[in-house]
Amino acid sequence: MACIKATDIKEYVMLVSITGIKKFILGLASKIKTYKEDLPTDDKTPMENENGSENGSNEVTECFEYVVFPQRVINITQRANGSLSHKKLQAWDIADIDGNVQPIYAPCTVKVLAKPTSNANSILYGSCDDQGNKEAKMTENGTLRVLTFNFTHDDDISDVEVGMIFKSGEKIGDEGKEGYATGNHSHVEVAEGWQYRKVTDDFGHYRIENITNIADIFHQLRGWNVIKRSNGYTFKEVDKRGNCL
Ligand SMILES: [Zn+2]
Repeated sequence: MACIKATDIKEYVMLVSITGIKKFILGLASKIKTYKEDLPTDDKTPMENENGSENGSNEVTECFEYVVFPQRVINITQRANGSLSHKKLQAWDIADIDGNVQPIYAPCTVKVLAKPTSNANSILYGSCDDQGNKEAKMTENGTLRVLTFNFTHDDDISDVEVGMIFKSGEKIGDEGKEGYATGNHSHVEVAEGWQYRKVTDDFGHYRIENITNIADIFHQLRGWNVIKRSNGYTFKEVDKRGNCL
């Protein structure tokens, strides 16, 4: 005849209570899980594409400015790496509609970083936000980059001071003939990051530091820019100065 020993009862009670605790814990865990799943998910980035739009998951919803060609009429009179003064130099000469002096406009919001000592009146403008903080802009090849723009030959730059901020499309200067220039134009160079000085390179060019490929930078603004002479370059068109404007 089987009899239940006191130790068996103790073990049985322990087993029951352990199982009970386990069940309780598992129940609690599943309740927490359910609660968590019911919470609204706000950790999804705006990059995620939930609507299955044709732009796909690489759609960028961040606000940025486009870099826009700095004159109304696109007239590139000398290409980069040309045979004349641009031999082995990433620079354009731009001359707008004719031989008169025409304005240069801010390609994006910029701050005057420096007026390097030069006999040709160069000014360096860095891409920035409304407060003058360094800010990346959308370039023509689809990359957001912090840039410095150099414009040279303006006959009078006494009205431009370091620290001045110009909004995209505001007049920042003029073409001119200051320095070695045979006709009114502006010599344009673009550099990566903010640059404050010009240096003489191995080919004797007095140019901006960290210079970059100028063909990748400027957009054509629809209804504002008109092409007179693209000199073999092509421009991606945009219909506003920023994607959120
Ligand atoms: Zn030039």
